[in-house]
Amino acid sequence: MRGMVEFKVKAAHYINKINTHIIPVRFEYYEPKTIEEAVELLAKYKGEAKILAGGTDLLVAMKQRLVEPKIIINIKKIKELRFIEDRGDYLAIGATTRLREIEKNPIVKERFPALYEAVKAMAGTQIRNMATIGGNLCNASPAADTAPPLIVYEAKVKIVGPRGERIVPVEKFFKWVKKTVLEPDELLAEIIIPYHPPNTGSAFIKIARTAMDLAKVNVAVALRVDDNNVIEWIRVALGSVAPTPVRAPSVEKALEGKEFKLETIEEASKLVVNDISPITDIRSTAEYRREVSKVIVRDALIRAYNRIKGR
Ligand SMILES: Cc1cc2nc3c(=O)[nH]c(=O)nc-3n(C[C@H](O)[C@H](O)[C@H](O)COP(=O)(O)OP(=O)(O)OC[C@H]3O[C@@H](n4cnc5c(N)ncnc54)[C@H](O)[C@@H]3O)c2cc1C
Repeated sequence: MRGMVEFKVKAAHYINKINTHIIPVRFEYYEPKTIEEAVELLAKYKGEAKILAGGTDLLVAMKQRLVEPKIIINIKKIKELRFIEDRGDYLAIGATTRLREIEKNPIVKERFPALYEAVKAMAGTQIRNMATIGGNLCNASPAADTAPPLIVYEAKVKIVGPRGERIVPVEKFFKWVKKTVLEPDELLAEIIIPYHPPNTGSAFIKIARTAMDLAKVNVAVALRVDDNNVIEWIRVALGSVAPTPVRAPSVEKALEGKEFKLETIEEASKLVVNDISPITDIRSTAEYRREVSKVIVRDALIRAYNRIKGR
């Protein structure tokens, strides 16, 4: 009898922490059809509700009992949240647009190659068919692959809630690991990515243990050079090397106004260590992250520059 009790206790522990097929909590489930309905539900159940988009982060967390929401609001039936639209000065992407749709979009591939490369490097096709760009940002993993490209493109997010709309730069959206500026009654509706002039080049590089894994380190860069190859504007952002995705101002400052030369790029890339605070975890060590950051910043800058030159 005692053996059976011990077995049940062990089994419960095993199911809750490891078995990823079972969600062991009860919740109420809603499927609003409009943003307005979703916001009403969020306001009503403030703090108790969780938004479900693709579920590729949330359901894993629920199965592991890391989060146990009483209310689930599935926003995937809201048509007005799923689009990719050219709006003249900028490209707008709805929050529930699937990663696979972004990967297949010709404007993204042509005008925002760092975002294209980031999405392409995420998980496998099945996950990309379900996962959304809004979910990737709102989950606020330091390793979120879409964050560094959106930061270097100076993208903004449109947030909607009972008090109306607000626009926040993606760079300011993340507060800490798994924490964003979203209030419990707000949702992310749209991502706004400004178009950059034609003499802009950009690139994304990710180092991961396997193709399906989160990044040990990822980096996105964007830069513009003038006719004399002088860097007139540059942005560098990295993921998985701090509690949130971060810019690398030391590298940017060292390169802005300088001619694009390999030696200069090599030296400036080493300065990235001043801007990051990596930790050792299951994916990598702090030392490796520091060393490889220098290398991928350099390589991404060269790749972005080659793109400007049409190579
Ligand atoms: C096998 C596997 C591989 C993966 N590989 C990668 C990878 O390589 N790179 C990477 O970055 N990620 C990866 N992920 C993580 C995940 O797939 C992505 O973060 C994905 O984009 C999350 O989107 P989702 O729509 O599934 O989010 P969900 O799981 O639905 O939501 C994630 C979180 O965001 C909140 N949320 C979602 N949408 C909104 C919104 N519009 N407004 C407010 N809150 C919202 C939810 O409440 C939840 O807290 C992987 C996951 C799996 C399971």
